[in-house]
Amino acid sequence: MAWPLILVSERTLNVVASSLPADPSANRFTHLLATRPWLLADGATGSNLFDVGLMSGDAPELWNTEHPDRIANLHQSFVDAGADIILTNTFGGTVYRLKLHQAHGRMAELNQAAARIARAVADASGREVAVAGSMGPTGEIMEPIGTLTFDQAKAAFAEQALALAAGGVDVLWIETMSSREEVEAAVAGAAVAGLPIVCTLSFDTNGRTMMGISPSDFSGIEKSLSPRLAACGTNCGVGASEVVACIHNLAEAMGPDVVLVAKGNCGIPQYVDGAICYNGTPEIMALYARMALDAGARIIGGCCGTSAKHLRAMRDALESHTKSPSPTLEAILSQLGEVSTGARAQWGGEQSRLGGAAPGANLSRGRGGRSRRE
Ligand SMILES: [Zn+2]
Repeated sequence: MAWPLILVSERTLNVVASSLPADPSANRFTHLLATRPWLLADGATGSNLFDVGLMSGDAPELWNTEHPDRIANLHQSFVDAGADIILTNTFGGTVYRLKLHQAHGRMAELNQAAARIARAVADASGREVAVAGSMGPTGEIMEPIGTLTFDQAKAAFAEQALALAAGGVDVLWIETMSSREEVEAAVAGAAVAGLPIVCTLSFDTNGRTMMGISPSDFSGIEKSLSPRLAACGTNCGVGASEVVACIHNLAEAMGPDVVLVAKGNCGIPQYVDGAICYNGTPEIMALYARMALDAGARIIGGCCGTSAKHLRAMRDALESHTKSPSPTLEAILSQLGEVSTGARAQWGGEQSRLGGAAPGANLSRGRGGRSRRE
């Protein structure tokens, strides 16, 4: 069943590549996508900045002006490890998130500074590296459950997008989203900058986002968006196995023409001595990268916990790998670990929440017998 999908996908890719304008400077991200079978995105921002002095509760975005060298060093480590796409240090760069640190008046300055730092590293790399402007959730709950209106959210994302574009990003990268309303507002806001848009959701709650969106739901949402996304997928979440299963479910729902992104955490978050650690090894992340590619992702990277060392292992794994049929659920379970009941039900074609939450789905224990947080 996976083979026809893969064949159509490669044919589509060739058509896109042959119709591309000869000028590669048109847009680096679009050009990379059209000319390469897969792209490596970067690793974590927050967890790696904690390693060089960021304290819990600090706004990482303030470092774009306080410690630009440390931000540049992080980007450089990912580029050296083989990243084709680096994300700006602007995940909490909307006025709503910056307001928590009394820095909302510096929104444009901090986002532009971040984009310039990443742009400089990408441009000095000697190869084609795209800069993606990271845009995370506002942290506010939107109407009708909360109070933030669509227009307010759209305006906040629009001003962030314009600042990132002014700083030189190639693509706007909306990530860790969980609600339909915020996805729609973020895409509508990002669109004002006129750049390609990527959007990834965190399917971290039994195969769905915190707000209940399944991969199948996201497929419907994506098709209704204007403009359509250049790529979409999943980031963060609860571990490599769940992300690969999610990519499989997204590929089934969205079809072969949608470019999928997998940016999974480096294993499962665990509390060790009061700090959050991630248990993924470079070997696990290498396996994850290959399986995510086979499951249908064309852009693969790491989220929380992913260091340059992990990313190098992923690059090597992808370069030495020939795309194969989508992995079976059994292969994911045995090589990467457990998959949630909800994601397993979706894999089997059961899309209702009730079906996904049904008791009695007997989870196999993956290697290492990791605990699940659901
Ligand atoms: Zn993450």
